[in-house]
Amino acid sequence: PIIPDYLAEVLEQVEPDASGAPAAYIPELAEADPERLGAAFATVDGRVHGAGDIDVPFTIQSISKPFAYALALADRGFGTVLAKVGVEPSGEAFNEISLESGTGRPLNPMINAGAITVHSLVAEAGSGPAERVRRVLDGLSAFAGRRLETDEKVCASELEHAHRNLAIAHMLRGHDILTEDVRAVVDGYTRQCSVLVTTRDLAVMAATLANRGVNPLSGEQVVPEGVVRQVLSVMFSCGMYDAAGDWATQVGIPAKSGVAGGLIGALPGRIGIATFSPRLDSHGNSVRGVSLFERFSSDMGLHVMEVP
Ligand code: GLN
Repeated sequence: PIIPDYLAEVLEQVEPDASGAPAAYIPELAEADPERLGAAFATVDGRVHGAGDIDVPFTIQSISKPFAYALALADRGFGTVLAKVGVEPSGEAFNEISLESGTGRPLNPMINAGAITVHSLVAEAGSGPAERVRRVLDGLSAFAGRRLETDEKVCASELEHAHRNLAIAHMLRGHDILTEDVRAVVDGYTRQCSVLVTTRDLAVMAATLANRGVNPLSGEQVVPEGVVRQVLSVMFSCGMYDAAGDWATQVGIPAKSGVAGGLIGALPGRIGIATFSPRLDSHGNSVRGVSLFERFSSDMGLHVMEVP
């Protein structure tokens, strides 16, 4: 089996790297086993290959952002969403308290300011907090091709320390980007981040983006094709926060990271890739995840700017 053997070999190469640390600002995440390591590929024709800890559940965190963005675009249309959230790279940390000058719009949907706003835009107009949370859980489950659940402990742990996201949400409310109860939106956004996934799930979710929005296992068209183009473009320019430029040049795959240690990449028409390793670098990206993707990209010629 060529792909599993290759994956096992690459995992072995990065395994000794113990640099970085699990996210500490969410106490429950700091408890995670830092030694976990896994990688999975899901092809657009529905084959999944993996090595390491690919069936260990962890919270999706910021990897939920591109999928929630896809749902908001599908539910409300491009005009409504773009009026509230831009598509410009911020070059700043994921939790920066920054909004576009003048409009107060978050620069993009991958930073927290944008993602909190996006959460307020899922489900049909006029929906309340419970409907939005349901829509996100249903939508993420459709991307994964199985029923997902929320980790209540991680969610509660993050909510106890959510002052920074609340501050961001209050700024958004001050600019009328958010127009409702700030706490309910941050609560819903935090629930969105606390959905449990495995590396295998994330590979299938990424493969759904790579496959024009059609889940390669279930065959379901989860979001329209035009939405996927928008999402992958924003992942390419903004998915790795203040490391997005380095990533675009070195790895060259539309991607998204999460503070629980997950990382996904989606190659249009080809594969979804996911890795899991909890120790993070200074940008909040998984250290060994980044090394794995660098290797995948160069070993298999996956950089989207390279002629295959
Ligand atoms: N829930 C986390 C937060 O809002 C997600 C951050 C991340 O994964 N980068 O801080």
